Amino acid sequence: MPAAALSGSHALEARGLCLTYAGGIEALRAVDLSVEESSFVSIVGPSGCGKSTLLKAVAGLVPITSGTLTVGRGAAGRSAVAFVFQSPTLLTWRTVLGNVALPTELGRRPQGFDARRARDLLSLVGLDEFADRFPTELSGGMQMRVSLARALITDPRIMLLDEPFGALDDLTRQRLNEDLHRIWQRDRWTALFVTHNVSEAVY
Ligand code: ADP
Repeated sequence: MPAAALSGSHALEARGLCLTYAGGIEALRAVDLSVEESSFVSIVGPSGCGKSTLLKAVAGLVPITSGTLTVGRGAAGRSAVAFVFQSPTLLTWRTVLGNVALPTELGRRPQGFDARRARDLLSLVGLDEFADRFPTELSGGMQMRVSLARALITDPRIMLLDEPFGALDDLTRQRLNEDLHRIWQRDRWTALFVTHNVSEAVY
């Protein structure tokens, strides 16, 4: 990723960003994007237009082909980015608490497995009573709440949300969007929220 300084209060900047996959598919062409720190940006567009690819590039999961992409670093004890996918991707053999605390265990942070913070986050997403349950005992919406808490535990500077509620029914999706907004207003990480649902993007 070519290095460039972030200007002003930006968490993320792309200039002339192009990304062509190995097979020759051009997923991103000349993308210019500046995202203010602590803002909530929705990216809306039809399936296949390159939304997920943009998030993956920001996360450093796919290499860019040309242009520049500059992503702010995480501060001490803070990750630069966290990713929330459409599928909750929970480990079925670990408890809800064990899933939420997993990044603290893997990240070799000084405090190690942070059960206390995991419990606080479970409370934030309304699941304090389910800490010792297993993912298969939860509904799809609840599993997505666990996935959100797991992303939040690294205290990310940028949250990358790739159609996180796309697989849920309308009412559950609406509740989760409200909760997400409430948590964002409290913590003010920078959000890049991908959806193909126009009303969700407007909300
Ligand atoms: P969206 O998220 O908007 O649905 P994607 O970023 O997933 O779009 O895909 C953009 C384009 O890149 C599509 O044509 C898709 O087929 C292609 N693509 C996505 N991932 C890969 C990959 N790993 N290898 C090759 N092509 C890919």
